[in-house]
Amino acid sequence: MNAPIRYAEALLTGMLGTFGLDIEYVRAEKNTLYYLDEDGAEVPVLDLIGGWGSLMLGHNHPEIVSYAKELLDTGWPTHSQHSSHPVADQVGAALNQIIGRELPGAEPYTITFANSGAEGIETAVKHCEFDRVLRLKTLFEEIEWNADVALKAVLGGSAALPDDTSLLPGEVPAPTTIEEFGALLGAVAEHNIARAGTSPVFFALERAFHGKLVGSLQFTFNPIFRAAFASLGPAVNFVPPNDAEAFESAVAAHRVTVLDVQVVDGKVTLVERDLPVIAGLIVEPIQGEGGIHALTAEFAARIRQICDTVQCPIVVDEIQSGMGRTGKFLASSHIGLLGDYFVLGKSLGGGIAKSSVILIRQSRYRPEFELVHSSTFAKDGFSTAIARRTIEILEADDGAAYDRAAERGERILGMLRELAAEFPDVVVDVRGKGLLIGVEFADQSQASSPVIREKARAGLLVFQLGSYLELAHHIRTGPTASVPTMLRIEPSIHISDQEIEQMRTGLTEVCRILRHQDALPLVYPLSGAGGQQAPRTEVEDFRPAAVEEAAPAEPATAKVGLISYPLTPDMLREFDPSLAALDDDRLLGYARRSELLKDLPAFAPVRYESPQGTSADLTVYPLLVTQQQLREYQVAGQTFLIGIDLDRRVRAARADGCQTVGLGFGLGSVSDHGRALRVPGITLTTGSALAAGSALAAVESAATERFGDLGELTMAVVGGGGQIGSALAALGAGQFGKIVLVGSGRPGSAERLRAAELGIYQEAWSRIAAGGELGGIPAALAAEPLVAGWLAEGRSGDEPSGAAIAAHLADAHDVNPFVVTTDDLLSVGNAQVVFSAHSSAVPVLDEKHLADGSILCDLSFFGTGAEANAISARDDIRYVRGGIVSVSNHPTPPRGVSASLGAGELLAGVAEAITLALSGSSARPTDGGASTRARVDAIVGLAREHGFETTTT
Ligand code: PMP
Repeated sequence: MNAPIRYAEALLTGMLGTFGLDIEYVRAEKNTLYYLDEDGAEVPVLDLIGGWGSLMLGHNHPEIVSYAKELLDTGWPTHSQHSSHPVADQVGAALNQIIGRELPGAEPYTITFANSGAEGIETAVKHCEFDRVLRLKTLFEEIEWNADVALKAVLGGSAALPDDTSLLPGEVPAPTTIEEFGALLGAVAEHNIARAGTSPVFFALERAFHGKLVGSLQFTFNPIFRAAFASLGPAVNFVPPNDAEAFESAVAAHRVTVLDVQVVDGKVTLVERDLPVIAGLIVEPIQGEGGIHALTAEFAARIRQICDTVQCPIVVDEIQSGMGRTGKFLASSHIGLLGDYFVLGKSLGGGIAKSSVILIRQSRYRPEFELVHSSTFAKDGFSTAIARRTIEILEADDGAAYDRAAERGERILGMLRELAAEFPDVVVDVRGKGLLIGVEFADQSQASSPVIREKARAGLLVFQLGSYLELAHHIRTGPTASVPTMLRIEPSIHISDQEIEQMRTGLTEVCRILRHQDALPLVYPLSGAGGQQAPRTEVEDFRPAAVEEAAPAEPATAKVGLISYPLTPDMLREFDPSLAALDDDRLLGYARRSELLKDLPAFAPVRYESPQGTSADLTVYPLLVTQQQLREYQVAGQTFLIGIDLDRRVRAARADGCQTVGLGFGLGSVSDHGRALRVPGITLTTGSALAAGSALAAVESAATERFGDLGELTMAVVGGGGQIGSALAALGAGQFGKIVLVGSGRPGSAERLRAAELGIYQEAWSRIAAGGELGGIPAALAAEPLVAGWLAEGRSGDEPSGAAIAAHLADAHDVNPFVVTTDDLLSVGNAQVVFSAHSSAVPVLDEKHLADGSILCDLSFFGTGAEANAISARDDIRYVRGGIVSVSNHPTPPRGVSASLGAGELLAGVAEAITLALSGSSARPTDGGASTRARVDAIVGLAREHGFETTTT
């Protein structure tokens, strides 16, 4: 059955699926979410995210649920806007009472309702600006009045003209006549008007999180969320938390004044007045998404002072920290932070409703705001009633819920501190207050396990750890929005001792995994259907014995990248040895699961020195994709999907300084030989020219030795439609009399064989047109009337000619005398020389296919020599490994491309990329289409100059 199409956040759900977190929960209570297993049985999961802070009272608190039912059963109106709403007032009264208790001396706060945290923040910001504009209006009215008073005083003779105009920019002389005074008033008004349009200045703290709507987002620090939308809202100045001096100087830097004309001691005088440009400061008393950082009481006191002097309102965002989560109703109460505004959300909805409120100190409140602001759903009957009941439950028994939050929080923190003491190498910090807690793990971006390292580098370490906790321990944790190494723990007050112990067990395992760099427990649950026993249950130690100190080397002349993938499961085991115990199916299952996150960390660079004096560092950039998946992309016409991955990796190589990048193991064939990639500043090669060239060189000498003249021989190419296969065919045609191209019979194969056939004719014609001595197929083709005619006309060798020759041959001959295309492997038996250039991991040929005494050049499965064993019983056959070059001064093959390479050997395709880098060449050997003899000869020659010899083993 096909998976259902996802319409809602398919990418996000897909990425969660990469970590096995795309779980459908069907029921929830307290701190437990349930999903159904394959047999329909409920599986409980301990929920430590708690609706991202919305579940102070847990999932489906029974009293709230029964109250909600009661509301619905009694027909309580949810929507009755523009009517009296006593419940909303009651919520306001209850909150005022709490604020009065926790922050003694606070004046009353009005209450405005909204639907979400971000909307609450935007409403507060909107009110701040409304207030500022009204303050601006009042100031200008005063200035206008004062100017009028001054003018009248001068005219009436009760005030002297001003004698100091230095506050006005420019050299403005003091007025001596009433006309000049009139002009001065005009200049002052102009000056003021120019400044009146100064944009409002808002302040927020670095690491802040205040929401993701276009307005609230401007106050959210993390540029990952904000950057693309920065032009959609107010420019916000971010200042460091707990640094009052920095805030004070930022405020001072934004001071703007206007001029007032006042009568002082019988003289008209210019006076500076502060323009209200500073609209507000928004703070979280404990930054949640920013990584659980608390403000200090000292900072709270200082910002209060500074803001009072410039009339800047302080908006306190208690959306996450409020509602009792930290042991008091407001986290601000711990530090005596008296906000001009408080914003609450999340748990205010009792875990079932969506609601937020903005509390505004009465002396700063602008009642006219109610006439310009509204929202259909805000202050609805249902959520206000639920908010009222939620507050009642929290306040019951003298605020027992707050005490419980504090006590449970301490217990969790105590457990986590013990863990941190046991694993100081793994846990860098444990912090929080009450039930707002973060566990910060050590950065793993230099981890020795590549699986762990790559996830850390991608900023996804907590997802990987969360995946393990969820799948192996049935514990659901969350990330924070800004600290990729922090697990967030925000359970409800119902968390039990037993659940805290469950947490301890899971987190202890996480610490052991990280300490020992054992990726198997992380990967195993993602590697296939559950049920089976893991190959081992104990964490094992995979820490490297000693850290190798790399000798500081002179930088290489060039850097070359190779994009590859683990061709066989063994290569994946070699890549991360902790995965060795996983069987092939599990490893392939893991690769499949990683569809959306294929990057694996690059291997350490390996240096190649050329006899010409240049050097190149080769870095392998692997992708976690299998041969099978690549084939599926091809069959489904979705090679663009792997194209996206290739593009990203090629760009990564470029960013690392690579000028040349090779696409290994047939990645060229899924990217139109790299042409589908649009990455400027990079020479891309698929390496097929040197692979074909070195194989032909090896075979031509062996065949001449065995058979003499090649012109009478037939050569067969298994995988004749592939890039290397078609290059071999086009070039081999120059010597051989007949060519058999064998395809796989899979979709698209016939078309690829046809293209290869036309390539043979095209190359043949260009050789004929070039003149000189001809052999093989070109020699015979030159005698065909069509071709002879072209020659007489002087037609150019570059003219597209393959299709015309093919049409001519079909007309002129019953059976094509030169080229056979087929998917029948038995036709290989007609050839004296056979190239195996297919991409199948299993042998395609066996003994019965090959003619007596024939030569087999094996480039199968990207140079891994897949055919070797299948024909080992035939000692009449000359077996030549193809697609390999030898590099005498570099005995150890690089990791990640080492599939079955011996000492001093290298895949020709990789050698091509290195050769190009060593020679500083920016010409792609396969640019402009198929490999031509000239191009191939050139790259073979160049490779030799740089120390790569074609082998004949
Ligand atoms: N402010 C803070 C401090 C928050 O933690 C959040 C949500 N994590 C918001 C605002 C935004 O709330 P919402 O997601 O309901 O818009």
